Formats: sequence, structure tokens, C-alpha cells
Amino acid sequence: PALMSCPQVQRALLALTVPLEMLQAVKGRMLQAMRKGLSRQTHAQANVRMLPTYICSTPDGTEKGDLLVVELCQSHVRTLWVTLLGDGNQSPQVMYKIFDTPGDIMKGKGEALFDFIAQCVRQFLAGIGSPQHRLPLGFVFPFSCRQTRLDKAELISWSKGFSCSDVEGKDVVQLLQSAINKQELYHVDVVALMNDTVGTMMTCSMGGEPCEVALVVDTGTNSCFMAEAQQVEMVEETSGRMCVNTEWGCFGDDGTLSDVLTPYDQRVDQESSSPGEKRFEKLVGSLYLGEIVRHALTALAAEKALFIGSSVAVLRTKDVLKTQQVLEIIDNEEGMAKARGALEALGLRPSERDCCRVQQICRAVVSRAAALCAAGLAAILSHMCQSRELERLVVNVGVDSELYRGHTRFREILQSVTGLLAPECTATLLPSVDGTGQGAAMVTAVTLRLAAQRREVDRLLAPLRLSRTDLERVQVLMRREMELGLGRESNANASVRMLPTYVCGTPDGTERGEFLALDLGGTNFRVLVVRVAQDGIRMASEIYVIPTAIMQGTGEALFDHIIECIMDFQLKQDLMEQVLPLGFTFSFPCQQLGLDKAVLLSWTKGFSASGCVGQDVVHLLREAAQRKQHLGLKVVAVVNDTVGTMMSCGYDDPKCEIGLIVGTGTNACYMEEMQNVGTVEGEQGRMCINMEWGAFGDNGCLDDIFTDFDRLVDEKTINAGKQRWARAPVGGGCAWLRLPGLCPGRFEKLISGMYLGEIVRHILLALVKKQLLFRGKPCPKLQNKDIFQTKFLSTIEMMGMGMGMAVLTVPLVRGSDGLALRQVQAILQDLELQASFEDSVLVREVCQTVSLRAAQLCAAGLAAVVEKMRENRGLARLAVTVGVDGTLYKMHPRFSQHLQQMLRDLAPNCTVTFLQSEDGSGKGAALVAAVACRGAEPRGQPPLSPQ
Ligand code: ADP
Ligand code: MG
Repeated sequence: PALMSCPQVQRALLALTVPLEMLQAVKGRMLQAMRKGLSRQTHAQANVRMLPTYICSTPDGTEKGDLLVVELCQSHVRTLWVTLLGDGNQSPQVMYKIFDTPGDIMKGKGEALFDFIAQCVRQFLAGIGSPQHRLPLGFVFPFSCRQTRLDKAELISWSKGFSCSDVEGKDVVQLLQSAINKQELYHVDVVALMNDTVGTMMTCSMGGEPCEVALVVDTGTNSCFMAEAQQVEMVEETSGRMCVNTEWGCFGDDGTLSDVLTPYDQRVDQESSSPGEKRFEKLVGSLYLGEIVRHALTALAAEKALFIGSSVAVLRTKDVLKTQQVLEIIDNEEGMAKARGALEALGLRPSERDCCRVQQICRAVVSRAAALCAAGLAAILSHMCQSRELERLVVNVGVDSELYRGHTRFREILQSVTGLLAPECTATLLPSVDGTGQGAAMVTAVTLRLAAQRREVDRLLAPLRLSRTDLERVQVLMRREMELGLGRESNANASVRMLPTYVCGTPDGTERGEFLALDLGGTNFRVLVVRVAQDGIRMASEIYVIPTAIMQGTGEALFDHIIECIMDFQLKQDLMEQVLPLGFTFSFPCQQLGLDKAVLLSWTKGFSASGCVGQDVVHLLREAAQRKQHLGLKVVAVVNDTVGTMMSCGYDDPKCEIGLIVGTGTNACYMEEMQNVGTVEGEQGRMCINMEWGAFGDNGCLDDIFTDFDRLVDEKTINAGKQRWARAPVGGGCAWLRLPGLCPGRFEKLISGMYLGEIVRHILLALVKKQLLFRGKPCPKLQNKDIFQTKFLSTIEMMGMGMGMAVLTVPLVRGSDGLALRQVQAILQDLELQASFEDSVLVREVCQTVSLRAAQLCAAGLAAVVEKMRENRGLARLAVTVGVDGTLYKMHPRFSQHLQQMLRDLAPNCTVTFLQSEDGSGKGAALVAAVACRGAEPRGQPPLSPQ
């Protein structure tokens, strides 16, 4: 109480105390300053520079090998030899040597400085008798640099007493490498340059859990953290993370800390070698704490609150009170004695009360440093939490600080204030042991690991990356197969069947009436009624279940069931009394013999009803109607889903003359000139051709595009091998039947939803086997077929799209990066995969590679189609619309974009618009029926028998 009674001391203590609200404000300002440093527009003027370090990964424990580190320190050069064993970095072996820097070198020529460093390296290596194999070197250079690569960094300006000529503005990595070469140490390779802060972060990562923030509070102060690369606008990289060196010592140089500063701080600043600069550092760094206390004591003595009766002139001398002494004085047990000792050493004669007050002042100064440091750290944590869109951030923070290691008060305040200011984050502070040296070795090792991994990943994925030439060749091959498929004689040998559909016109808007539609072979079986009127199309539909027993039973039972469903639907819709024309969407490969005559070539999608293959499905339906005594059935058209898609989009856009499906499978149809359709009699007009392009390549023409992964997928599909066809007599003509026991097509396996997930799964397994993913840990669950679903590709590829253009163009993409990343990790966790952030990024790269290839191959196929149509019509330019359906196309965040881009590239003379179909199967079937009822009977005769 006696202490408290002195108002001058009270006032001083109050001035040195930053209340919580003020700390909150400081945190807010730090956040703002950080954002300013990250933004491309404001980076140059920012006080908190937020320098990119090009360090994009933290250690994962697999790093191994010998590494060399050179650290340039204030008064010495330290060289280290670090051996990592790949054991999770439990026990790195370290040898080091310290070389004192001659004083004249720090202010001499730049060349002399680097020659000296290189000589240290040579001596060190000679001393340990190092082998001559290639030695990667990490260079710790604790000055502000403008870094453009991990091994390229221009010195911005010297500090810390250095002022060598001819170095500012130069690449210091280059300078060191040249000096090393001059020493004929050609096997030593400078691979990374880093700041001391980064080193701290890296060593604290060594335990296994990544450490993503580092705090240095020494003579100066600085920090770094793993930022989302996308937010570091100074670098092009937008995926993954990058360590950013905040250079936060200069925080406040624009005056933002003026309400925190005391008159003592102003005096410290004025007497320093850089007045007005490094304001934050001067509040926190240990170089200044003694000085702040000295000025506080001087002021209090002048106010007669201290040392009454002593001469205090000694306190006017700079640096008479060392920070070390301040730290001893704050100690609970020894502090008072230390205060007395320190003051008496200055020639003062302190009373007991003086010692007490001095101790209070010292504590206030150290506490304030810890609290301000906490405000800065809280800003970093909140920034990370926000930019990763987490509700809660759990993170390790490496701390390199004598203050933190040695002083409970500093440690406790730092910890508790950080918790108060960033309550949404749980930060574990880890003291670093020789952060700089070993950390530098880690950075170097991680760099090497990443470079080696990158080479291996690229080698593995290279076959999946198609060149433009590859795609042009696919386009040419598709064109050739199309011609073969259309030719009367060559049809038998074509892998693209080019099946006639007897649909000879697209809607023209004059269609009217009420129609029934059936949709069999999509995801659900449905019955619909479709009313086509002047003001648009209205539909009502009902989904019916087809029990597995019926799918795999007899054909009679299947078609009886279908008729029962139709009758049920007509009853419910009150349509029993009407005879409505019916369009039948039947999404299985059929040889069509007329608009209402379609011979089933093979069942797919789990159907295997007996007695149907080789039969006309309309006939089977009519027979069932008769059995069920349903007399009001008028089947006018059988429609493939591709055709339905084209027709339904054609209703809205008369230019729509192509249909495309990219769902479970893939297929396309388009309007071909009758004179080119060798398999159907008649030369007039056009007919829609169902390409059945999924089978493209079944004759082996795509084999060089097939990768080992595709072959694995192929082998694992039931009935692997080529799709073959056999001729079978049907009715009056002859149809081509897919031979039983053979799998669907090659092209489809590279493109469609049924396979993309499987391709990715096989690649992931290969990456794990090569220790490039999930630290090479075995992934038993990933061994299961189809466990990696194609819809995962969509989710995973959304990660990193953040706020980019894609969000604007793809309305399906919602949410943000943080959310997407969590979804990715949730997916991988479900597969019992322990994914680091880098793992997630690599998995995404695999997905992107596979989906990009699919989209590009699809584009090559379409390019063949549109170019053929353009040539058919003798046009210099063709404008055409593609109606598209299929969940892969609709849901994948980039598929359509890549498809369209590649198509523009491959078919520059065609302007192709894409229109997503809505319920192509239902609406499309009705429209085929409507178009058929609109005009005359469709042109064309039954097909001729192929030779
Ligand atoms: P179908 O082709 O049987 O008519 P769809 O067009 O709905 O059916 O396609 C279903 C297929 O789309 C699924 O088998 C799956 O492979 C794929 N798929 C489903 N969801 C997604 C998604 N979100 N992103 C990409 N592909 C998906
Ligand atoms: Mg479908």
C-alpha cells in the first residue's frame, strides 16, 4: 500500500500498462497491416512487409540425408553439418563450428564478406573430412530480402550493423554460390535461402505435428506463418500454402501505435540509430527493454519519486541498464537483491522502496512486451483461422526467445493474453532448440524432398497428360471411325456404331399435344405425361421401382411390370380414356429399324431380363400390353437418352443438333446428312445418328493413350476386354449384337463417371507405393474397388477454387476454400487416410489430371462431330448447340469449362454453344413423338443388311 501511494509511480505504471481493449485494438491494427502487406496493390507501402519465403511445406519426417547450413550472424558465421535419418526427425545429428567475423568485413566490400563465408565452409568441411558427394546448402541470412524463389533473394537493405558495399539489390544466393565455387567446392549447392524466423518454425515441426507459426523475440522481434498461397498476392502460386515472413518489427512505423507509446518509448526511439523505425520491435525486442526502463527511472527521479538524495546523472548514459539486468530484477525471489545490486553498481543509493518501485517498473515493461507480442500473435492466429475458414484453429507455434525460455512472467502473459485475444484458436507454444541452424537444415531437406517428389509425381502422371497433338490424333481417329460406322460396308468393323435413330427433325416450336413418355435405363424408371402447348411444356411424372428380381428375371415379367406401371400412372392422372402417343426412352444400345422398332443389342446397367436381346423392344411392350389387355397404347417412338437430350434442348434452341451425355456412361448423337448414312436407304434430309461413342477405341486405336492405370481399371471391370459385335438376323433385316461377356467401351472408360473415381484410386495407390502420398503408409480401405467415387473428384477439385473466376461461371460451386479443404479431408478420413495438407493438394492434382483428360478427350470427340457437320454443310463457319445431360458434366466444377475450351481450340471454325438439358429423357421422348406426329412419317426405310 505504501508503494501505491506514490502518484508519479502510479502514473508511470499506468502509462506502461496496455489495457485489454487496447490490446484488442492493437491486434486489429496488426491484422490490417498484415492484409496491407499481402495485397499486391498496397504491398510496397506496407510496414508489415509479409515477405513470401517460397517455403511451401513443413517437414513430414521422411526427410533424410546430409545437409550443410551456413548462418550469418551478428558477429560470427556458423556452419553446421546436419544428418537426417528419415526417422521422423527424432534424432538429427548435428556438428557445427563458429567462426568470428572480423569487424572490418561487416562494413567492407560485399565480395570480401561472401569470400569469408565460403572460406568458413571450406575450413569446416576440411575439418570434418566430408565426402565429395553433392552437398545441399541452406543459407540463413537474417536480413530483409525480396525473394522470388527459394534460391533467389535480393537483399533489400542491410541492418544489424552490416553495410557491405555492392550487395543491396543483388541476389545473395548467387553471390554465395560464386564465392563457394571460387573455393573449388563445386559439390556444394546453395539450394535455399531463409530468414531465421522460418528456421524456428521448421525445427518445431520436427516432432511429427506440423508447426505453422514461429515467433522470434530476441534483440529484435519477427514472426512467420503458413499462409494460404492464394492470399499471398505477391506470388503467382495460388494453390497450397506458403510461409510468409511478416517482418512485423516495423509495425507502427506509420503511427498506428502512437496511443500505446509512452514518453519513455519516444526517448528510446529518438536515441536509437533508426528513429521513427521499427516501432513495434522497440516495444518488444530485448535490445530495448533496458533502455525503456532507464528512461522511466530517469523521469521518475526527476519527479522526485525515486532515488531522493542520490545523483542520477549516470542514468543519462545510454545502455547503462542492460535488458539482462531488467530480467533479473523481475524475478520473484532474487529480484529485489538484483535490483539493489544493479542500482548500486551504477553508483545510486537505492532505498528499499526505490528497489521495489524499480522492480515494478521493470515488470511493467516486460509484461507490456509480452502482451504486445501476444496481440501480434493473436492477429496471426485469427488471420489463419479466418483464411482457412475454420471455426477453430489448432496450431503449434515455435518460439525462439530467451525471454520466453527463461522468464515465467513473459511466458505466462504471452500465453494467457494470446488466449484472450484469439479465443477461437488453440495455440501450443513450443520453445525451439537451435531453431535457426537445424531449421535451416530442415528447410533445405524439405526442399530436396519436394523437388524429388515433384519429379516422381510428374513422371507418374505424365502419361495422363495429353498434348494437343495427342488430342488432334484422337479427333482424326474419331472422324475415321465415324466414317467407318456410317459406311454400309465398313460398319461391321467400326468401333463407333453410328446407329440410325429414325429421328429426322428437331423441334421447330409448332409441336402441340399431349404425350406419354417412358424412361428406362437412367437412374430411375419413370412414367410421364408431357403436354406441349404454345406457352411451353408441362410435365407430370411418377417414379416406379423395378425390383432386382424383375430386372434379372424374364423379359415377359419385365414388360408386364412396365405396363402395370403405365396403367397405374394413367389411373392416377385420369388418362385411362385417352389414347396418347407414347415416346419410349430406352437407354440401352439398340439397332433401330424404324422410329418405333429397336432391337436390343445388349443389356447394361444391371439389367439382364431373358429373351430380350435380339428382340424389338416395342414389340415386347406391345405384346405385354395385349397380355394385360391395355388397348390404348400407341408407341410411336423409341428414343435413346442422347437423342432425348438433343430434342429437349432443341425445343428451346433450334440450333441444337447434337446431344451429349456425360454421366455414368458417355455417348453422343448428332444430325447427319441422309446421303452419308450408308446403313439406311434414302438420300434426302438428315437423320439423328446415335454414335454409341463409348465404344470408340475398342478396335485398339486408342491403345497408346491408355495408361497402366486405365488398364488396371479395365482388367478389374467384369468382362474386361474388347467390345465385339456379331451379326444376328432380326425380323426382316439383320442387327449387330454385342457378344455376351464383354465389357463396355474404351472411350467411355477414359471419360465417364463410372470410371474416373477408379482411375484416381489406382493412381493414389501407386503414389502410396512410391511413398509419395500419406507418408507411404498402407491404405487397406483404398484397395476396395469403387470406394473412391467420381463425385469425390467434384468436391476435391473445388478446393482452391476459392473466390476465383470459376465460382462465377459455375453456379454449382458454393462455399469456399476452407470449407472445401475440410470436405476433402473428411473424404480422405472416411477412407481411413491420414492426409496432411500437402497430401490433400496432391490428391487434388491427381483428380484434376484425370478429369482434365476426360474433358479433353470428350472435346476431341466433339471436335470430330462438329467439324464433320460443318463440312457436310459446306460452311466456313458452323454455329451449333450441344444439348448436354449427365451428372458428371453438370456437377463437376471444371469439366464443362475444360471441355469447351479444348473444343474451341480443336475446332476453331465452329461456334459451339452448350445447353444443359432438363429432363432430356422425359421431355425428349415426348418431343420425338411430337415431331413424328407433327410432320409426315419419318423418312427412311428399314436398314440394309451390312455385308
Ligand atoms: P445416368 O448416366 O445413369 O443417367 P447420371 O447422369 O445421373 O446418371 O450420372 C450418374 C453418375 O455421375 C454417377 O454414376 C457418378 O459416376 C457421377 N456423379 C454423381 N455425382 C457426381 C458429382 N457430384 N460429380 C461428378 N460426378 C458425379
Ligand atoms: Mg441419364
